[in-house]
Amino acid sequence: VDGTDLWLGIDLGGTDIKAVAVDCDGRVRWARAIATCAPEGRDAVVARLLSLMATAAGEVAPARVRGVGYAIPGILDLATGTVELLTNFTPDWTGFGLKDALEQGSGTPISMLNDVRAATVAEQMWGGGRAYRNFICIAIGTGIGGGLVLNGELYFGSRGAAGELGHQTMDPDGPRCNCGNYGCLEALASGYAITRRAREAIACGDVQLAELLGSAEPEPHQVAEAARQGSAGACRIFDEVGTFIGRALANLVCTLNPEAIVVGGGISRAGDLLIDPIRAELARRTVVFSRERGGVEVLESPMGGQGGAIGAAAWALRQSADLATWTHVS
Ligand SMILES: [Zn+2]
Repeated sequence: VDGTDLWLGIDLGGTDIKAVAVDCDGRVRWARAIATCAPEGRDAVVARLLSLMATAAGEVAPARVRGVGYAIPGILDLATGTVELLTNFTPDWTGFGLKDALEQGSGTPISMLNDVRAATVAEQMWGGGRAYRNFICIAIGTGIGGGLVLNGELYFGSRGAAGELGHQTMDPDGPRCNCGNYGCLEALASGYAITRRAREAIACGDVQLAELLGSAEPEPHQVAEAARQGSAGACRIFDEVGTFIGRALANLVCTLNPEAIVVGGGISRAGDLLIDPIRAELARRTVVFSRERGGVEVLESPMGGQGGAIGAAAWALRQSADLATWTHVS
């Protein structure tokens, strides 16, 4: 990498930690991923984060790293950088001052944001949201997260937790969610819900699906592949999942009247299998916002699974720009 200014973004995921260095136009100039090893506990993961930061500093030199941002898959106290809730990680993360630990360990100031809120910033600056002042970002992966841009600004809500789209109750008698509630969108339509639905279909005697999947615990991308190979059962799963997501989004469209919805996350790579039923249900449930009255665009994210990391870098860039503006004004 030449002597350009770069911003480092690190996305702490349940399975892997992704790091990117982007330039001021959002181009990824360096990327690296390592395993999280979350079951090893908090201190081990923090040590891996610090070593990844050291690797990045070494490998992108002599470029100048102007800021470092983190994307965290949970709820944070944004003022202090303390972790409030991090599902899929060991319990010792709750109440942990992550920002302080990383700043002290690396000697570098960092900024921090929820992972999907970070991805929303990336979409706004360099992705599917660029053309819009009001849009919803939904990330469908192992879980379901989201972010809102309203009047051109990332919307935080009173505690920074606005955008938890996955925890809307869609079916009060539905399956239990990782958050403790029953029938959340996430419990019905996320990656883990797709795996559960496939398992249930096989248990109910879908021999064709069992043959195509060859596993009792199939990954969502395997279910998508089975759908493409003609499994009616797998197609039905994506229809049901997409319909639930479309219904949840329709409620948000009625509440917020956005111009667009950007769909990202690993499951969005299923493409039309997922997007078609989302569009169909949205059209059915948003009569007041019909096409003739302007409608709402549904776009696939162009971030290719790096939205969280790119967004963390984008957030660091924006914080440094705000700081520069503030310094200038004062
Ligand atoms: Zn939930």
